[in-house]
Amino acid sequence: MSRYKAIQARIERSAQSCGRLAKDIRLIAVTKGRDVASITPLLDAGHRDFGENRVQEALRKWPALLKDYPDVRLHLIGPLQSNKAKDALDIFTSIHSLDRESLAQKLAAEKNAAQKEFFIQVNIGAEAQKSGIAAQRAGGFIADCKALGLNIAGLMAIPPQGRDASPYFTALAELARQNNLVGLSMGMSSDFESAIRCGTTHIRVGTGIFG
Ligand SMILES: *Cc1c(COP(=O)(O)O)cnc(C)c1O
Repeated sequence: MSRYKAIQARIERSAQSCGRLAKDIRLIAVTKGRDVASITPLLDAGHRDFGENRVQEALRKWPALLKDYPDVRLHLIGPLQSNKAKDALDIFTSIHSLDRESLAQKLAAEKNAAQKEFFIQVNIGAEAQKSGIAAQRAGGFIADCKALGLNIAGLMAIPPQGRDASPYFTALAELARQNNLVGLSMGMSSDFESAIRCGTTHIRVGTGIFG
């Protein structure tokens, strides 16, 4: 819990230093690989946003917890296979990895899709091996997703490793602005302060909270 409190204090400080409000930055506690015993203290402290990167793991861990804490918001932050779209919508409130037309169609066909929010993942560093739609194609894809009736909250990205993330954060923020989207899912343990300066609305922090 001391790590969790320290992260909250850092969010507060970074927000203040750039004239933002900490309440406009949602902290998603990333619980992939963590057991229920390490999650419960956060729930008891009132934390409600959690991230998982695998559908199967979330289905194993969260239904029991959701019974006790029904107002939890679960965010899928990892890649989603089309054949898991239905399972994902059953447990997650937000999907941060919408990155292709076939997946958008699969999701939109499910009846509970309308109550969910989606972030479009952008391959902002144009890396060959990384998922995410190319930045040049994002505008068209956003329009297609909206036409399918999906509630597009914003854009998500994971910048290239080992490089200063801020130019990539700035590029993602600009792309969102051009497309009239306000949500930005960017910033992890190592770079969330930089993401806050670049306007992030959702940071995804795992090791910073859990060690
Ligand atoms: C694991 C993961 C995170 C959290 O990473 P940390 O460095 O542990 O904070 C954030 N986003 C995604 C997509 C992840 O897979």
